[in-house]
Amino acid sequence: SERLKAGLARTRDTLGKNLAGLFGGGKIDEDLYEELETVLLTADMGVDATTQLLKDVRNRVSLRGLKDASELRVALKEALLELIQPLENPLVIDANSPKPFVLMVAGVNGAGKTTSIGKLAKYYQSQGLSVLLAAGDTFRAAAREQLVVWGERNGVQVIAQESGDAAAVAFDAVNAAKARKVDVIIVDTAGRLPTQLHLMDEIRKVKRVVQKADPSAPHEVMLVLDANTGQNAVSQVKAFDDALGLTGLVLTKLDGTAKGGVIAAIAKQRPVPVRFVGVGETIDDLRPFTAKDYVDALFE
Ligand code: GDP
Repeated sequence: SERLKAGLARTRDTLGKNLAGLFGGGKIDEDLYEELETVLLTADMGVDATTQLLKDVRNRVSLRGLKDASELRVALKEALLELIQPLENPLVIDANSPKPFVLMVAGVNGAGKTTSIGKLAKYYQSQGLSVLLAAGDTFRAAAREQLVVWGERNGVQVIAQESGDAAAVAFDAVNAAKARKVDVIIVDTAGRLPTQLHLMDEIRKVKRVVQKADPSAPHEVMLVLDANTGQNAVSQVKAFDDALGLTGLVLTKLDGTAKGGVIAAIAKQRPVPVRFVGVGETIDDLRPFTAKDYVDALFE
């Protein structure tokens, strides 16, 4: 939670400071609500989440007969926690999970997909699970190489093919994971935009073929999202969810953005669980998402 707090430093700098300014003193009045609205919108919470939060805060204020601006802080904190709590649903892989647990990863280029896969492999490996990576980004040889090198360095098996399409790589890899009795297989896919329809068809095919190799799979379809993209992140969640049926998100680069409020927008508009947040570039900079730590980090 200290790491999450550090990771949210830039969001705290803006959102936290702006809020502190509002809660400084004076009375709760319409001007204050208007300022609060601006602060929430500026933090990329989006119109829908902002509207809901304001309504919720107003209710809490009137129910409790609050008068002083400083009392608004607690009301907002509670409202925000209630809004984003449903996103908290950690991806636990243990003895009760399917084996192999097939985790498929999607995202646009540059979102932090490759980095997050390395972090995820390390995360589950450090829990004593065996991990296999499928280098399904068949478009970029460099991405494949990156995974292979990374795997060698970290004792993680990587399945890569010089040629062949992404679906074939995924199919072979899931079969290899079954044969080798691996606990977790992470299937990488090439970066793509939701507007690239042929590529969205391709990733749907990857999913279908994974299902062919193991009818219960994929057990997780994860989208990696760059928090810097703000409101655009919400559109990405919707588009990938419509195309693939997402079960989880990784929100990366929270450390480099002041747009950490985007979590509220996701909660309101397409509440796919945020499994992890990325708070830095190193292999250990991945944190399971917990709503309370997140809200505390913003308000402390
Ligand atoms: P991909 O194209 O989606 O595979 O993206 P990469 O994994 O190659 O990451 C793109 C850039 O973002 C790299 O420079 C990463 O080091 C950086 N990056 C990824 N995740 C994070 C994060 O959580 N925080 C920060 N600060 N940088 C990140």
